[in-house]
Amino acid sequence: MICLGIESTSHTFGCGIVSSKKKILSDTRDMLKTEKGGIIPIDAAKHHRKVGKRIIEEAILKAKYPKIDLISFSRSPGLPPSLHEGRKIALEFGKEMNLPIIGVNHVASHLSSAHFHTKVKDPIYLFVSGANTQILILENKRFHQVGESLDLAIGNALDKFAREIGLGFPGGPKIEELAKKGSYSELPYIVKGMDLSFSGIITKAADLLMKGNKKEDLCFSLQETCFSMLTEVSERAMANCGKKELVLIGGVAANRRLREMLTIMCNERKAKFYSVPLEYSGDHGAMIAYQGILEYNSGSKIKTDVSPYERVEEIEVTWKYLEHF
Ligand code: AMP
Ligand code: MG
Repeated sequence: MICLGIESTSHTFGCGIVSSKKKILSDTRDMLKTEKGGIIPIDAAKHHRKVGKRIIEEAILKAKYPKIDLISFSRSPGLPPSLHEGRKIALEFGKEMNLPIIGVNHVASHLSSAHFHTKVKDPIYLFVSGANTQILILENKRFHQVGESLDLAIGNALDKFAREIGLGFPGGPKIEELAKKGSYSELPYIVKGMDLSFSGIITKAADLLMKGNKKEDLCFSLQETCFSMLTEVSERAMANCGKKELVLIGGVAANRRLREMLTIMCNERKAKFYSVPLEYSGDHGAMIAYQGILEYNSGSKIKTDVSPYERVEEIEVTWKYLEHF
């Protein structure tokens, strides 16, 4: 089976073509970037409308015109205008090609991408993206959250600080670059049980910036503080849940310092650390295509509406990662 997956939950319009032989035939995308300020939802939807057809055509061309059997799109969670635009494009394309369509959960797709790209079996999932910071496990056919951010997601927090210092969107990679030249200034460290809070740290960093602290030092300290918090909670999740594997997914997984900290922690406790390849850590179509194949073949209820606030814990995991291929 070959599935064409469409991603449109937020800033990125992506199209991926994946075969059930676990091969990515193509993956094309276009991300809305801004020089100043963040993402305005309606602008993201306009962006998707503008680039959608081209990105799909490029994916088909790169995959050498395969025989597509199924179309999947991200139906949840996300910015409502972006989700609606992606759905519209998927339905238009499905009608034109006379193909079945399945809507999937974007977070489940990120989590499944861990199983697509790595040999992980039964991990703690550390999912860090623009909109999410969640620590999860998979048990009894459900993803269960064992920890989360109580306010801003880590990606959003980094983007917010990047805006404060005049970097555009996405801010995470620019902060990573500046941090290389920085040294430590103290910031609050906020872990409450298994939960984290980033909002006060960003406020404090912005305050220190006004008081004349160097951008580079604040970027460095922000990474050291926030990533230590993520490492602490991930380690406690592994200990509490008796898991010997950790897998890192989501856009912020591209950060080398975060990977380094988690690698050290896992080595120290003789656990295995996995992360998806850099190019597949953020939002993209191939993970939506893979999720489409998993759900279509395992008898999940086919949904084609959008559901902007659906949480991944609400979904029944009808598929099995190990047995599927
Ligand atoms: P996603 O929502 O999964 O597509 O991820 C997008 C988020 O990842 C944005 O908040 C980016 O700032 C963040 N991000 C991307 N690359 C990096 C990086 N190298 N370091 C930290 N954050 C990053
Ligand atoms: Mg995402």
